[in-house]
Amino acid sequence: MKHVKYGKCVRCGRTYEAVPGLTTCECGGILDIVYDYDYIRQTLTKEKLKEREHTMWRYRELLPIEEDTAPTPLRVGWSPLYEEPRLAEQLGLGRLWVKDDGQNPTASLKDRASAMAVAKAAEAGARVIACSSTGNAASSLAGNAAAAGLKTYIFVPSRAPKGKVAQLMTFGATVVSVQGSYEDTFELSKAAIDRWGWYNRNAAINPYLSEGKKTVSLEIMEQLCWQVPDYIALSVGDGCTIAGVWKGLKDLYAIGFIDKLPRLISVQAEGCCPLNRAIATGEPWRPMEENTLADSIAVGVPRNADKALMAIRESGGLVVNVSDQEIMAAQKLLGAACGVFGEPAGVTGTAGVKKLCEQGVLGRGDSVVSIVTGNGLKDVANAIKACGEPISIPGDMELLLRAFADRGIVVE
Ligand SMILES: *Cc1c(COP(=O)(O)O)cnc(C)c1O
Ligand SMILES: [Zn+2]
Repeated sequence: MKHVKYGKCVRCGRTYEAVPGLTTCECGGILDIVYDYDYIRQTLTKEKLKEREHTMWRYRELLPIEEDTAPTPLRVGWSPLYEEPRLAEQLGLGRLWVKDDGQNPTASLKDRASAMAVAKAAEAGARVIACSSTGNAASSLAGNAAAAGLKTYIFVPSRAPKGKVAQLMTFGATVVSVQGSYEDTFELSKAAIDRWGWYNRNAAINPYLSEGKKTVSLEIMEQLCWQVPDYIALSVGDGCTIAGVWKGLKDLYAIGFIDKLPRLISVQAEGCCPLNRAIATGEPWRPMEENTLADSIAVGVPRNADKALMAIRESGGLVVNVSDQEIMAAQKLLGAACGVFGEPAGVTGTAGVKKLCEQGVLGRGDSVVSIVTGNGLKDVANAIKACGEPISIPGDMELLLRAFADRGIVVE
């Protein structure tokens, strides 16, 4: 990889050759992939991008893959970025865009990391990939691996929503539902990976994953014609996504594609916000209980805390925590105002934006991109809880009229 220098530990600074099976530093620190931006600046232009396929692989000069590594089979990336003027008006914001990453092939942003894992496993000559996950890393890995003809072993906590488990079974993974927390699930997967030597797609352990995730911010900037918004808001669990988003932005800045950097808005659930608490108090992060219905961000022991905290701080970012009620309200709002259906963790970023508008932190002078990270069909039970049940009557016009009258529905 001529464009990649090495993997560098974010804790001690030690560097490692960027081999496909790279994991963490000897000191336990997470590695960051370091690029040769001078080289990339000579090989990648905005013009060149215009002719490329609409997948995450269009940015291959900024991705840690060999020149001859084939793109993975499923169409990952290039999800729509919708401008939402009515919702912006309603919230009192200058401009608002929604990046609907629930439109990836297995319906979450995690496809970006899993496609990268599949590409790197191919480079490593591996036949089997494994991970633990709150659900979406698992289903995206199972789907992207199935398409590439690879086997998967998946560990999920037993609380994982049915839609995600159904995806895993459909994609032919060997699935272990662990009766315990995400932390317990992670530890069992780690022991199994150590024992059988599978290719490791565990969050943060594998430094290539957030390089896949960063393609979401590369896309946002290209879709905005390289005009930088004031803020990018998203939900945070392990912290890999927000670290990836920041990495993508810094890449673009380093090669001169953008001339400034936006600030990040890190949104967590009140019942599980170890990273936001660390930022707010200035103290080191400490584990928390996993007490939220937003299962994808119910992460009490964040795996990528170092990189995530660095990203938020470097960007001059904001942190905001939202209640489960506020998450459910955002689910309804995004659905009804924008036609975008997100899972609870998927809409948590937007819930944070709404809250910051209500607090007067954000306003008419601000432009914001809010990333919806996962699709609502993955967790139908919570969507019904948030948005209610339909009118249920026998097929009778009189009963329909009465039902409308009872509910004060005036037909236009
Ligand atoms: C994984 C996930 C997140 C959070 O990403 P992290 O890298 O864990 O911070 C947010 N939303 C959804 C839908 C996810 O699946
Ligand atoms: Zn180190």
